[in-house]
Amino acid sequence: MSISDSFPFPLICAPITNSGADAFLAAIYNAERSADAVELRFDYLPAESLQQALTGLRSGAGRIGKPLILTFRPREQGGDRELTLRDRRDFWRGLPPEIGAAIAFADFELDLVESFAGEQPPVPWSKVICSWHDFAETPYDLIARYERMAGAPAAVVKIATQANSISDCLRIFELIEHAKGKKPVIALAMGLPGLMTRALALSRGAMLTFGSLRRGAESASGQPTVAELRNLYRVKELSRDSEIFGVIGNLVGHSRSPLMHNAALKSLNRDGVYLPFEVDDVDSFVRGFVHPKTKKLDWNLRGLSVTIPHKLAIIPYLDFVDATAKAIGAVNTVVIEGDELHGYNTDVIGAMKPLEELVDAHGARVAVIGAGGSARAICYGLSRRGAGVTIYARDLKKAQPLADEFKTRTVSLESFKGGADVVINCTPIGMRGHSEGQSPIKAESLKSVKLVYDLIYTPEETALLRDARQAGCRTLGGLAMLVGQAAEQFRLWTGFEAPVDVMWRAVSSRSE
Ligand code: NAP
Repeated sequence: MSISDSFPFPLICAPITNSGADAFLAAIYNAERSADAVELRFDYLPAESLQQALTGLRSGAGRIGKPLILTFRPREQGGDRELTLRDRRDFWRGLPPEIGAAIAFADFELDLVESFAGEQPPVPWSKVICSWHDFAETPYDLIARYERMAGAPAAVVKIATQANSISDCLRIFELIEHAKGKKPVIALAMGLPGLMTRALALSRGAMLTFGSLRRGAESASGQPTVAELRNLYRVKELSRDSEIFGVIGNLVGHSRSPLMHNAALKSLNRDGVYLPFEVDDVDSFVRGFVHPKTKKLDWNLRGLSVTIPHKLAIIPYLDFVDATAKAIGAVNTVVIEGDELHGYNTDVIGAMKPLEELVDAHGARVAVIGAGGSARAICYGLSRRGAGVTIYARDLKKAQPLADEFKTRTVSLESFKGGADVVINCTPIGMRGHSEGQSPIKAESLKSVKLVYDLIYTPEETALLRDARQAGCRTLGGLAMLVGQAAEQFRLWTGFEAPVDVMWRAVSSRSE
């Protein structure tokens, strides 16, 4: 009988990392409700709490309805305690038999497995996961390492490595592929660049993936929560053929795009997922994962959002760039069309559509505040609709090229006194974490303005929008553009109209 006959693989496993015995035991019952398996990280418990937790478990372990994995890891291998090999052997040898019988698996680090060679192990080898961790890098010899570990009598091989770059994920996927039909494998890359291994491992044949019970309770870096794995990325519903979408950027951990696109995919019952891809080197990512002619990963990647700092860097890799993206010199969307990569910019339509639902841009006097990337998309959209644009900037010299390009004028931001039908803030002034509570212009200057549009979306109501509301202007916040550009991306990738209300709810329900 193989292990998968006794356990319904694949599993989402929640590690318990509390340091007090009562909280540790309570967390197990909490984890049992959301996860498929629970890892008891006994190394997180100080000596006195450990005995208390063992006592609590002796009576309760048999009643826990989910498979339990017991781990007692030394600090140098990713654990939370200074433990010698002797300490670890003594712990396992002294494990109460009721607990040994109740657990599904014991995680023995490779050196511990080797130390028990030729002896009767403290738990049967059929219950042992042989684990190995590398917190510095993802080495190139993972398959050879797997083979060596699989030669030990343990039932499962676990290899977890640090992803220093997203390209490291390729070696984890190669390992999972290699292990097919052999000893079950748990393989993952830690760190934000490794997230795709955690989200896609199950669909590619790994036995389990780890999810924390809440933010702050992770047992390793880059670990998503159980709720994210199950409800946002829907990792247990994915197969090798599922459509993959994602956002490439550097610091994509806070991107709201996964919330919007995954909600949209789910609501349309599409077999697909949208993931954040932390990419430092566009060249190796495109060659290794994206371009159908060169990619090394056999997956059904359908499209990408592109964000800071790659909106320009992606262009040389594209087989086609649409006119809008060419005109504003930035691509925020890649569609995989057959063997080709096509680039688009949906920021213009995303920004203009909500604006035009409220005012007629043709002939309107529009004050654009700021002269950076989003101002460029806005100026392009406004110039095509025949609006009269004035750019207000703190640095007129820097703003001049934009004004020249769109045949408009630049005025010092300080001298803004009103006289516009529409005001659009394209600066970060007022943004949470930047200058929340501040406004780029004085409230008095808003009196005769019809619409004030702030591209910032955290907070949803900026100081500028609050002043505008109080002055009786119509207001529009940055979520409208965020959802609008994403909806257009969704349409380009799938050919279907995006469920805009679903995307809007998904993104605005997230606490700020
Ligand atoms: P960007 O390219 O860096 O441009 C920022 C502009 O703001 C520059 O012209 C900059 O002037 C100006 N600026 C910055 N700090 C200023 C200050 N204290 N006083 C006066 N001007 C200042 O940024 P971006 O991509 O255009 O983004 C701008 C804002 O729009 C951000 O807050 C972003 O969150 C928001 N945004 C929202 C969406 C959405 O979907 N809702 C999309 C894109 C952007 P200098 O050149 O002199 O530094």
